[in-house]
Amino acid sequence: MVGRLLVRLSPAVLATGCGGSSQAPDADDAVEWGYEGPGSPENWAFLSAEYALCGDGRQQSPIDITGYETGDGASITFSYGGDATAVRNDGKFVHVDYGPGNTFSVGRQVFELRSAHLHSPSEHLIDGVSFAAEMHLVHEGVDGDLAVVGLLFRLGGPSAMVQGVLDAAPAAGARVTGGVALDAGGYTPEGPDHYRYDGSKTTPPCDEPVDWYVMRQPKTISAEQVDGLLALSGGPNNRPVQPRGGRRIILGGGPS
Ligand SMILES: [Zn+2]
Repeated sequence: MVGRLLVRLSPAVLATGCGGSSQAPDADDAVEWGYEGPGSPENWAFLSAEYALCGDGRQQSPIDITGYETGDGASITFSYGGDATAVRNDGKFVHVDYGPGNTFSVGRQVFELRSAHLHSPSEHLIDGVSFAAEMHLVHEGVDGDLAVVGLLFRLGGPSAMVQGVLDAAPAAGARVTGGVALDAGGYTPEGPDHYRYDGSKTTPPCDEPVDWYVMRQPKTISAEQVDGLLALSGGPNNRPVQPRGGRRIILGGGPS
């Protein structure tokens, strides 16, 4: 798979590698996925056979949310209130993990909140417009179905919830358990209006399907907090928008 990568990457990208070596590639040369350089999003599908969907998938996320329909979708309900069980920093994201009891319901379907993380700038666009940051609330249903709720942040006043994540973030590669006072109640959206579409995970292996619910009303985040997020992730950590294809986007949740 490394040979395939070398074939597909541009000369400019190859020049950043260990030039001059005549050794055959081995496993140690595998490029890790990321957001710049050889591991950047346009190359994800070529980094590993397991990442094929990042290139071949037909319902990839994020997307530009535009041309949506006003639907009569099922009502959604958030019942958040428990503290986190752990905070992890993988060098790209700070993940805040939750145990059972924080639920997101769509009609009669119930999903448990598993973890939360932040991207900056936003991954989804609304009518072509980017936002300062986007939080992803990753949920799992009883049958393993994934439902992700996206919370958009525009520049404005500081977010107590984001500050809590920044303050709790351990060093890259570290994980903290116990005494993590990050109440999931802080993630509760500003209102019920949301955009619903069929998508994927936005990081390798780009699994499909994921039920996406991007909340319409943004929260606010300060410029200093955006700087804090970028410092933690080493720079922007947003995947560019993907082809929408024939997918429908339904605006639901309440009167607009
Ligand atoms: Zn995400």
